[in-house]
Amino acid sequence: MAKITRKPAPRKAAVPKKKAKAVLKAATAKPKAPAKTSSKATRPNSIKSWTPAEIHEVFSRFRKANPEPKGELEHINPFTLLVAVVLSAQATDAGVNKATRALFEVADTPQKMLDLGEERLREYIKTIGLYRTKAKNVIALSAKVLSEFGGEVPRTRAEIESLPGAGRKTANVVLNMAFGEHTMAVDTHVFRVGNRTGLAPGKTPLEVELGLEKVIPAEFMLHAHHWLILHGRYTCLARKPRCEVCLINDLCRWPEKTV
Ligand code: SF4
Repeated sequence: MAKITRKPAPRKAAVPKKKAKAVLKAATAKPKAPAKTSSKATRPNSIKSWTPAEIHEVFSRFRKANPEPKGELEHINPFTLLVAVVLSAQATDAGVNKATRALFEVADTPQKMLDLGEERLREYIKTIGLYRTKAKNVIALSAKVLSEFGGEVPRTRAEIESLPGAGRKTANVVLNMAFGEHTMAVDTHVFRVGNRTGLAPGKTPLEVELGLEKVIPAEFMLHAHHWLILHGRYTCLARKPRCEVCLINDLCRWPEKTV
């Protein structure tokens, strides 16, 4: 009698453990300080690439849900926006707004900020982390805006980044919100969403920024930064993403999504 050999039951297709782990790590990690940009994406082979049609669909849904997204940092003009962004490093927008409401009533121009002086400025912002250094930077950047840029916030990335306390993220926010440029500021929320969804995997904010700029169609770029921040802040939460109410859960590539 022929011996019957039983075939092993077919296994459910799954993302290889090692690779899924790598995606999970990138999606939950905090952004590393900007380092050398690598042209190599960190997308594991097992994660299906996004098609242009899918990316268009994602941003069409964001646009439909929130056609005119707004940033949550309160400001009156490009100068106060610049100051608010500098103050927001490692602080929440709500915490910055609480301090700047009173501050901007008395100092909404570089000259008024200089007239206020570092000591009194510190009093206004002492509830914000690193306020001593930030006060020093705000006074120094006000002086530079006055002496080198005629009192107007400069409009180029290099000039904005040359201001004390302002880095690439500050320049991206100011260029986008004050001057309508198609820049992509990557904060902790955008970094997480770019990695989790697989839209723009990267180990540094710069990699994610360049990846997003490459794949997002121009028609969405003016608001893309805010849609992604708001998505990360209110839906794709760091510890417990709300996948069940997520607008793009059918498209998201995160192996750990809960839908
Ligand atoms: S499905 Fe979940 S993990 Fe993916 S973007 Fe939505 S909330 Fe984030």
